[in-house]
Amino acid sequence: MSQSCYHALKISAPLKGNRRNQIVSQIRILSEQLANQIAAGEVVERPASVIKELLENSLDACATRIDIHVEDSGRRLLRVADNGSGMDGDDVLLCIERHATSKIHNEAQLAAIATLGFRGEALPSIASVSWLTILSRPHNHEQGTRAEIRYGTLHNIHHDGCARGTVIEVRHLFGNMPARKKFLKSDRTENHHIEEVVRDQALAHPHIGLTLTINGRRIFDFLPDADLSKRVREVFGYQGTLLPLRLEQMATEAPEMGITDITVDGYLLLPETAPTSHGRLRILVNNRPVQDAMLRHAVNEGLQGFLMKGYQAAGALVVHISPDQIDVNVHPAKREIRFSKAEVVHRFVVHQVQAALENYQKHLRSNLFTSSKVQQHESPLFQQTAPQAASTLLLTSLTTAEPVPEWLPMDQNPGLPGAYQPEGLCLQSAIAAQAPLSNTLERCENYANLTLIGQLFSLYLLCEKDGQLIVIDQHAAHERLLYGQLLHGYLTARIPQQSLIVPIPIELTPAQAETLEHQVEELATLGMQVEPFGDTTWLIKAVPALVSQVEPGGLLREILDGLRGLARAEVDRSVPEAILELLASMACKAAVKAGNRLQPVEMLALLVQMEESTIFSHCPHGRPALKVFTVQEVQRWFHRHGG
Ligand code: ADP
Ligand code: MG
Repeated sequence: MSQSCYHALKISAPLKGNRRNQIVSQIRILSEQLANQIAAGEVVERPASVIKELLENSLDACATRIDIHVEDSGRRLLRVADNGSGMDGDDVLLCIERHATSKIHNEAQLAAIATLGFRGEALPSIASVSWLTILSRPHNHEQGTRAEIRYGTLHNIHHDGCARGTVIEVRHLFGNMPARKKFLKSDRTENHHIEEVVRDQALAHPHIGLTLTINGRRIFDFLPDADLSKRVREVFGYQGTLLPLRLEQMATEAPEMGITDITVDGYLLLPETAPTSHGRLRILVNNRPVQDAMLRHAVNEGLQGFLMKGYQAAGALVVHISPDQIDVNVHPAKREIRFSKAEVVHRFVVHQVQAALENYQKHLRSNLFTSSKVQQHESPLFQQTAPQAASTLLLTSLTTAEPVPEWLPMDQNPGLPGAYQPEGLCLQSAIAAQAPLSNTLERCENYANLTLIGQLFSLYLLCEKDGQLIVIDQHAAHERLLYGQLLHGYLTARIPQQSLIVPIPIELTPAQAETLEHQVEELATLGMQVEPFGDTTWLIKAVPALVSQVEPGGLLREILDGLRGLARAEVDRSVPEAILELLASMACKAAVKAGNRLQPVEMLALLVQMEESTIFSHCPHGRPALKVFTVQEVQRWFHRHGG
């Protein structure tokens, strides 16, 4: 019977007296066992979900050590043993009752949940689809309790001299639900899911000792009292650079954003080390591993310009927020949560990730360039360097030696049209500053305690510093610098223009012309000045000074294609993706190319500008602009150990 029909019946024929007795109700209250099995359908999807629920219970019981054993990917045995608070006999009986929990008692507590569990559903659900054994003893009790429940029915309960804490064993999982059992995947897949659950909890609770043994093989042995960075390394099996998300100088609260008690902690892997298949972002909110698209998006947005195509943010994002700001009761397996002020949290996390990246730049800067600003301004090294002198003195072995050594191939395209012209390189500060030819060798080789070895493959600058080999990709580094300048210009609506002595006429397609008419202001902000010249022809009168050596017609067409379809409103908000891409593309075109031989003075100028810019470590497409090899790494190439 459809619902509307049912309502009609109720209204037209109210039940009275005898008629009520004649109706045999179709609706029944489900038996406890059936209700539990239905709940299990949501909560206990596979062996890994059992492990997740049992782990959460151990953690809520303040365990400091948890040992997990799995046999036959959970088909034969799942066991979680903890040294937590334990349960007395009464509680052992109660814990398998539906909606029995020690964690919340009233509505107010539901609004601010501080424990991992709260639904009182896990144990009865698991018990309804397996053989469950509970062994538990509170710390202040002489004896413990052992209970055996088979598919929801208590089979046996008695005192037991077990250890303090709780051991829960699950056998014959889904033994009474063959359909569900059939859905289990290969051992490998089920074990993988279990490992993922354990990894997440290991990250969420670095102070807890946690082991996982599968078929007698120790898979994880996380020692207690690890700090978060150590746990991140263990969980990701990662030895590279970590970007800390907790920043000392950052306010840990954002009251001006209308939110208090929020902290962001955790570590991201260096963006270029985490391609899609390997890395992933694990999100923990109030020590609860969750899947949250909003937070994932925020981290990716914060990493904008640092993630190469095909790479994903990876690491651990640890958010602590006052429990009344989130709703954890939105998913039966508690995998998702809802933020009451999602937008504010999003902004805060983006900001925090960006700040972490800037911090990383600072750290890199002080590692690479230790010159004090005083030294830099009072006696700028490069100002005392004459270009020719520098090139002969510094690069003799690289540029004039004959024949060219094999490892240093000749410039592949020295005379390509449109190839980089030294004058066009935006490193004028160095070139303009030509001073007396004194002390050139010593000063030119060193900048800010960094020794410039020279240029390799007409692409990489090699530098040495404190037992480190620093390799800089000249194109990526220069591209980032130009991008930074263009973006700054764009944000302040002042991208410097350079007027063309002879304006360049250009033919545009109708679509391009239409975009141009709509986006004249935006074009001006980007540094282009264009005027109509009748019909389909337009005149380019000025171009962005930073990219003045790029062919103006092609640049204009690219900009117009990029701006096409970009709504005005979008332009008014933050910098739209399309604009960022355009700026990056302009920077890429104008930057010094691979294959361009650089004069020492230009290499130095690049170093100077890198030191001076906020961000210099990656090109705007996320490719790294420099790599640092320690002396130990280099020695390992040659199997020189302990040298
Ligand atoms: P919830 O965790 O939502 O309260 P569960 O069904 O998972 O519901 O557990 C029911 C109760 O059993 C818990 O509230 C807790 O009091 C008790 N319990 C379960 N596991 C443990 C454990 N490992 N140590 C101590 N108490 C436990
Ligand atoms: Mg629980």
